[in-house]
Amino acid sequence: MISDSVQTPSITNGHADASMRVQVIDEDKKFNADLSKWIDKWGLRSAGFDYDVVAVFGSQSTGKSTLLNKLFGTTFDVMDETQRRQTTKGIWMCRADDLPVLVMDVEGTDGRERGEDQDFERKSALFSLASSQILLVNLWEHQIGLYQGANMALLKTVIEVNLSLFGKTDQKTLLLFVIRDHVGATPLTNLSATLTADIERIWASVSKPEGLESRLLTDYFDLEYVGLAHKILMPDKFEADVKSLRTRFTFGPTGFFKERYRRRIPADGVGVYMDSIWEQVSSNKDLDLPTQQELLAQFRCDEISKAALEAFTSRAKEGRRNLEGGKAVANLGGMMRDWKTEALHRFDTEASRYHAGVYKSKREDLTAALHAYLQPLFMAQLKNLHKSSLALFKVQLEEGLRKDGYDFATVVGDARTKSQTAFKEGADEVLIPDADWDYDLELQQLDEDLTSLTALSKSDEMKKMVNSIERTFKREIGEKVDLELGRPGPKMWDTVLTVYSAALQKAEQAYVKKAKSFGSTPDEDAKSLLTLRQRAWRALKVKVDEHTTETLLLSKLRASFEEKFRYDENGVPRVWSKNDDIDGLFRKSRDETVELITVYSRIKPSNPDLLPAFPPEEEFSGIDGNDEPFEFEESLLILSEAKQVDITSKFRREADAYFVEAKRSIVSSIAQ
Ligand code: GDP
Ligand code: MG
Repeated sequence: MISDSVQTPSITNGHADASMRVQVIDEDKKFNADLSKWIDKWGLRSAGFDYDVVAVFGSQSTGKSTLLNKLFGTTFDVMDETQRRQTTKGIWMCRADDLPVLVMDVEGTDGRERGEDQDFERKSALFSLASSQILLVNLWEHQIGLYQGANMALLKTVIEVNLSLFGKTDQKTLLLFVIRDHVGATPLTNLSATLTADIERIWASVSKPEGLESRLLTDYFDLEYVGLAHKILMPDKFEADVKSLRTRFTFGPTGFFKERYRRRIPADGVGVYMDSIWEQVSSNKDLDLPTQQELLAQFRCDEISKAALEAFTSRAKEGRRNLEGGKAVANLGGMMRDWKTEALHRFDTEASRYHAGVYKSKREDLTAALHAYLQPLFMAQLKNLHKSSLALFKVQLEEGLRKDGYDFATVVGDARTKSQTAFKEGADEVLIPDADWDYDLELQQLDEDLTSLTALSKSDEMKKMVNSIERTFKREIGEKVDLELGRPGPKMWDTVLTVYSAALQKAEQAYVKKAKSFGSTPDEDAKSLLTLRQRAWRALKVKVDEHTTETLLLSKLRASFEEKFRYDENGVPRVWSKNDDIDGLFRKSRDETVELITVYSRIKPSNPDLLPAFPPEEEFSGIDGNDEPFEFEESLLILSEAKQVDITSKFRREADAYFVEAKRSIVSSIAQ
């Protein structure tokens, strides 16, 4: 690496990039917009504050580039001996080969008092001082003590510029004087004393801003002096001197690097920082470093935040897609918190090196952006949880209601608790600390939905219960009513209605007992009980109607008549003799039987209190709305007037036939 020759590294060669030199400011005083990329290529991007910047100043062709290349393995152009023309234009930069050091090679002035040169010298000094902590001042031994010329002008500029930049701060800079072609006749101590005196004189002559009048040169600068042997005349000594100088670019006690010299610009921001410094300097604007640092912080924090957000969203998109399936994503909260932590960590790593106030506020912005991105995921998860919690409730309910003798309130209560717990656990998992989210509304919505599902299920189950009680009622009255309706008599309806009332009472008691577990309202109970009573009555009516069809009724009448007419009191069949009062017995039997038609024609107990009571105005169609409303009074009538007349005449004809048959039996017995 240590060589005089001009290197022409290739950008495409990765290894070469590490030692590539870059023209930061070109001949036209334009800043190189790619500097940030170069910081990257030089491998310093993540160096944070752990890097140093060294700049060299001095007259043209005093061996500055040669020295830098030897010291740091850089690749600055060196003037070709045979042509002797200026090579360095503007400001170049290169990374030191084995140190995290940025080296700046600043175009030298040739000592002529050209206005343009002075202007550029001032600008380069501003630029260099704003970013470098060590300024190498390169000069020939024979120039020392002449207190004139280019070097003094340069030093004056440096001091003035430094005052304007750091006058009110305690920022320090190392001025390292490198005395070239030090022959050795004058010891270094003498040379440095002369130089120190010169520079103190300059300090004294410089006008200080208000309030800084009493400050000393040493408040701002540490001074170091090094002599290098003549490169051509004493090449070996020269090499040895350079080598020993190289060892002092360290942090050790005799080293030049000091934490307090550092400008504290994070390495990843150096490109942007220098760009804006040059922008200010070259357009002759006041260079206010704190403002610059704040601007840099804003710019860089935005960039860092953007990169962190991009990495974050590409991860979070996956979670978003998963949620679209409609199912709650397991451990979504954990993932979201991880993504957030990761993004903030990414941001903090780089951004925390910048201006504290800016960093803090940009961090808040980023956090808000992260939360804003995650919030729809939170909402989607809640929606999916709502769905799954409702489903869980339904399953639990169905399972509970399938068990014999379930207690509705208990089953519902358990299912509800399980569903709400599942929802809350899921929702809690997906909360993010300090995101200021809650799920109160969603939980309330779930409660409402559970309540309406419960109401639906309750009404369903109650209907089923009423149906089951109705079936029991029907079984209960079936045989007994059949029996009583087959034994017509004046007390028939009393007995039938007593059976009915007893069974209905049992049914009602069964209802009241079971209804307790549903926590039904008095109104619901009233409706259920009325439904039961109506259905019970209708069931009884069906029985009665079955027994009073024309055929069945006629056969009942026939049986009743026969029993009276053809059998004696002891149930023995009569054998008619001519002394028997056939006419009288016939009439009695017939009339008594006809009486029965009246009994069957209407439900009419001898004790009217046995009749159930129904609210007269009732147009009630049962708890499920499907029952036919009925008129109680109408339901009592079984045979209409006309029907009674019709049945009576049919029966009479049948009875007449029995009479004729009886008469004939006597005639035939006499004839024998
Ligand atoms: P710069 O313009 O200050 O960067 O100077 P260069 O490094 O390009 O060198 C200018 C010329 O001086 C070249 O021909 C070098 O070979 C020569 N040179 C470099 N170092 C020394 C030195 O220590 N002493 C002398 N006498 N010549 C040197
Ligand atoms: Mg040079």
